[in-house]
Amino acid sequence: MPSGIMKFTNTIVLIILVLISVSCGGNQGSRDADGDQPIRILVTTGMIGDIVKNLVRDRGEVTALMGPGSDPHLYTPRRADLARLSQADLIFYNGLELEGKMVEALKSQRSRVPVVAVAEELGDGYELIHGGGAYDPHVWMDVQGWIAATGPIREALVAMDPEGAEFYTQNAAEYIYTLTRLDNYIRNIINNLEQERRVLVTAHDAFSYFGRAYEVEVHGIQGISTESEAGLRDINRLVDMVVEQKIPAVFVESTVSDRMVMTLVEGAGARGYRLKLGGELYSDSLGPSGSNADTYVGMVLHNVQTFVSAMGGEYPPFQAVQTGSTP
Ligand SMILES: [Zn+2]
Repeated sequence: MPSGIMKFTNTIVLIILVLISVSCGGNQGSRDADGDQPIRILVTTGMIGDIVKNLVRDRGEVTALMGPGSDPHLYTPRRADLARLSQADLIFYNGLELEGKMVEALKSQRSRVPVVAVAEELGDGYELIHGGGAYDPHVWMDVQGWIAATGPIREALVAMDPEGAEFYTQNAAEYIYTLTRLDNYIRNIINNLEQERRVLVTAHDAFSYFGRAYEVEVHGIQGISTESEAGLRDINRLVDMVVEQKIPAVFVESTVSDRMVMTLVEGAGARGYRLKLGGELYSDSLGPSGSNADTYVGMVLHNVQTFVSAMGGEYPPFQAVQTGSTP
């Protein structure tokens, strides 16, 4: 081959290699050099979305697949969800089998972009609850658990966008400050509740972390996943407990059918005990927008205040902190 053509070919190869390396750099989802391309972040639940939004603010666009009222245990990805997954730069999900029917679709993105199972990466400092042969995924019910969840999210953001490291770390500190105040608030108002009133009966076993953190005895009518149905024997056992301990109220959940809870109320009624419905709790999704429970803090406040007032307790308002006022 004449040397002129050799040189020409080498130049072409070099140009192609340069083009490939440039496009790969852009592909991995890092912000572009001007910083005007927000990271496209996909999350499964609104609770995870709340952490991510508080950390990324205008450096990313956050989309939650499962909206208010969606049950993550039963959620099956639709075609549009699969398209969204394939367009995301970074993906966060809860893990611990919460998104039982989505795990395959989520994991299939791992060869392309970072996919982080937040509740599986909490670190050794946070002890997961094990029950019924598996880990309980409902970690957000303990505010300390959700503080731990900001760790892996911050780390993944910093890895993807190192220039924003200081920004993410500062935002995480502000968010954790608010959550720490929320955690103390819950502890205080539940401490003021009489010991025998600290019993929470709900539609499914979502509140074990809440119970452990705030010393409340919890009973879910259905199991940890809403896929399992409660048997008649379980219901009768709960009716006995409610009547014997004179529990004033039980609670329905926004993502779970209230059929089992109504069966419990009727069962108590048949025994001559008037069991009240204490209200609706948000267990596995945030509330609808504009509902006061459309943020993580709002959701947790709604749950704890609904519980405390149905149990005959009282509470002062929670003093929200303005963004940027970390001491
Ligand atoms: Zn659940």
